[in-house]
Amino acid sequence: MRVGLSEETGQIYGIENWGAGYFGINKKGHLIARPGEGDPRSVDIKEVIDDLARRKIKAPILLRFPQILANQIKKLHISFKNSIAEFGYRNSHLAVYPMKVNQRREVVEEYLREGNKYDFGLEVGSKAELYAALSLEQSPDSLLICNGFKDETFINLAFLGTRVGKQVVIVIEKLNELNTVIRKCQETGIRPMLGIRAKLYSRGSGKWEKSGGECAKFGLTTSEMLEVIRILNEARMIDSLKLLHFHIGSQITEIKRIKNAIKEAARVYCKVKKMHVPIEYLDVGGGMGVDYDGSKTSFDSSANYTMQEFANDVIYTIKNVCEDENVVEPIVVTESGRVLSAYHAMLVTNIQDEIETYPDDKEPIRPEDDDPQVVIELNDLYENINSKNYREYYHDALEHKDELFTLFDLGLVSLEDRAKGERLFWEVCEKASRFAQSARYVSEEFDDLRKQLCTKYLCNFSVFRSVPDNWAIEQLFPIMPIHRLDETPTTFATFVDITCDSDGVIDKFVDLKDVKEVLEIHPFKGEPYYIAILLVGAYQEVMGNFHNLFGTVNEAHVIMDKEESYLIQKIVPGHSIGDILNLSRYDKAFMHSNFRALIAQRVKDGQIDEQEAESIYREYEKNISGYTYLD
Ligand code: PLP
Repeated sequence: MRVGLSEETGQIYGIENWGAGYFGINKKGHLIARPGEGDPRSVDIKEVIDDLARRKIKAPILLRFPQILANQIKKLHISFKNSIAEFGYRNSHLAVYPMKVNQRREVVEEYLREGNKYDFGLEVGSKAELYAALSLEQSPDSLLICNGFKDETFINLAFLGTRVGKQVVIVIEKLNELNTVIRKCQETGIRPMLGIRAKLYSRGSGKWEKSGGECAKFGLTTSEMLEVIRILNEARMIDSLKLLHFHIGSQITEIKRIKNAIKEAARVYCKVKKMHVPIEYLDVGGGMGVDYDGSKTSFDSSANYTMQEFANDVIYTIKNVCEDENVVEPIVVTESGRVLSAYHAMLVTNIQDEIETYPDDKEPIRPEDDDPQVVIELNDLYENINSKNYREYYHDALEHKDELFTLFDLGLVSLEDRAKGERLFWEVCEKASRFAQSARYVSEEFDDLRKQLCTKYLCNFSVFRSVPDNWAIEQLFPIMPIHRLDETPTTFATFVDITCDSDGVIDKFVDLKDVKEVLEIHPFKGEPYYIAILLVGAYQEVMGNFHNLFGTVNEAHVIMDKEESYLIQKIVPGHSIGDILNLSRYDKAFMHSNFRALIAQRVKDGQIDEQEAESIYREYEKNISGYTYLD
């Protein structure tokens, strides 16, 4: 047992920085998860994966920890409760969970199980989300907020919600939505609550900065808001206007931006209230950032504030503005999604193989006298490179490599000599890289070289399916092995997925001060070696696509019941080959009858006999229920 070493590896991967107390390393050198910071209960992730393997549930596997989701919800409630008490705020906080962050039924149900204790509700942005939300049991005092662009069917569904007793708020994003709502109210006598989404001048920060500001896609301008108030007054429906909403983007990295937006929105709220509008709720949207890299900075994959600071700033700022305007404080509504669900899911997958830049041939290179001059010169560089000349020798090697390929193209170098020259070139690079890394200052070209030389681990998953934001917006996620953490990781690697797409790579990793271009990892010994991609519970599952027809992954819901004891509450199998083909409209009967026809033709042509035909067909047919990932 080498506990000290486990702590060291924990530092390499930065668990303490980004883990929010949910993750750690146990005495066996395995990654563990906990239901909350300081909780004595924990689960050994490697044990779960081995247990699932015995049940024939193969990697990649998405592990879901409902208790972590519940803990984040509770933390949000407590943070606002603390701020309300600390600043003597004379109203309350309600949250709504934006379903688009992760609409999976189990996630939304778990959210409601915990959220119902605090009257937390739901936010929807489409008809399908609303349809699902209408079927779920919410606390009677919670809100069901309808954002997004709406047609008549969307509005009809929202009215159905009011009729069945839900506290529906239809947020007006466009003036024409208002006309439909007023007409429906007049026709039916039903009065859902209404909200307006304001287009603020303030902007967020980070990747979603454009969601806010004057040119944002969503929301009403100041004159449009005034027009809504005028129309509602005219229709004698101003009593329905209950909520002012804004959202300046997801993953807001700087707390200052949040404060500015709140200040502006609170002022708008007070001015609207003073126009004799019985408005009651100020909905500050989502956007609370997740510190994916643990740096606590305003970097895109981080956030320079905590949940408590966020709550404090929201409550304190609104209170100040309301006091200044002499207006009663509103009920504060938050629509945080990412920060609630990111932590609760991790993807675990296995390393399938390694792809080396050049074959690590143990046989020494034996140059011959009759080798081409270029090979002899590369061999000279290889034998004489040292800590003083490595830069110059590396540059010479680059030139010789170009020359080698030119000579090959001209037919002047054989395939064997090309192989020898290539190997010598990479050996020179390897030595040059080693000398460069031990120098006081490592220049950019040698950083690039190290990246080129590092091993690529072939990982059994699809970036596009499981971590699409890594590909689309270079979002970083913590990645680390789930075992061998009592062993120093001596290799550097990047990861490539199993899609036939060169974008299917992960070559940026979290670091406290920088972004790592290679990850410290253990040598692959051909034995099962698993890595986890953590904090993938928000947006990743629902935004993932089926590139190359890699389907949803196997899923297991894990409950931590006692110290180092767990329960696999639920297993949800990932897509089979048949399921995923069905989504592309290849039904089983179509494929099977077409394949049978092909075989029948071969039998007719006398190429195969009936018995062989049957065995080919059976072999083909049985694969339809297989997993889309590598076995
Ligand atoms: N509310 C609205 C209107 C949104 O568009 C979004 C997402 O961008 C959210 C809430 C959730 O934001 P987050 O997941 O960053 O908390």
